[in-house]
Amino acid sequence: MLLSDPAGAPGSPPSLPIEALYGTGLDRPVDVLAVGAHPDDVELAVGGTVAAFVARGLSVGILDLTNGEPTPFGSPERRRAESHEAARILGVQTRVTLALPNRALQDTVDGRTAVASVLRLLRPKLLLGHYWEDLHPDHVAASALTDAARFYGKLTRTSMPGEPYLVPRALYFVATHLRLHAPASLAVDVSAFWEERKLPAVEAYTSQFGVNEAGRAVPERLRTRDRYYGDLIGCRYAEPLIARELAGVADPSALV
Ligand SMILES: [Zn+2]
Repeated sequence: MLLSDPAGAPGSPPSLPIEALYGTGLDRPVDVLAVGAHPDDVELAVGGTVAAFVARGLSVGILDLTNGEPTPFGSPERRRAESHEAARILGVQTRVTLALPNRALQDTVDGRTAVASVLRLLRPKLLLGHYWEDLHPDHVAASALTDAARFYGKLTRTSMPGEPYLVPRALYFVATHLRLHAPASLAVDVSAFWEERKLPAVEAYTSQFGVNEAGRAVPERLRTRDRYYGDLIGCRYAEPLIARELAGVADPSALV
């Protein structure tokens, strides 16, 4: 699906190469948008947080920059079905999968424009993106691309669709292939959503974590990680988030 003319003729909006769309589409704003390099990154990193937002009545969108293929047991069709099922389990309003190149993702002007266009249409109040330190080059590129697109969103005198928009707040999730202790700024208690939402959403990716021998250990490793962060904040399961910008406190009584 191409929302607009890719040729970039004078006066025409830029291309927005959408490979798959789930839910209500791009004409209904969301409160929160999580941007992952591949379908499954958002579920692995912040599936519980997404479910927690939804449970509190907030609308959530997921933007996958690529379709994640090729993988040993996947196909574009299978991956799309898995990602739609995961979105349904988490209760997200909209999921958009862009046709940017998997394994070759770069922070390009075309990529920025595509992502910024989605930001201008969905107008989230909070943006969740990849933590910038990672072994996977696509994740590093996704982090830079998401930051750049956040800035591009507010540009005027552009052919991007929608009105200029700067997402007011951004946090970074940890879906890293590096063996590191991420410097979390905060952790979200997802205890109520881990078993019934996050785990099934991750397991919906059977091509990645079911039939794939190498991927079968992932859910258990994820449990260990989220238990660890849960332990640090005194609950069963928690997901870490990293802030790059200073967080303001309008009402200090919220700290008590
Ligand atoms: Zn990934």
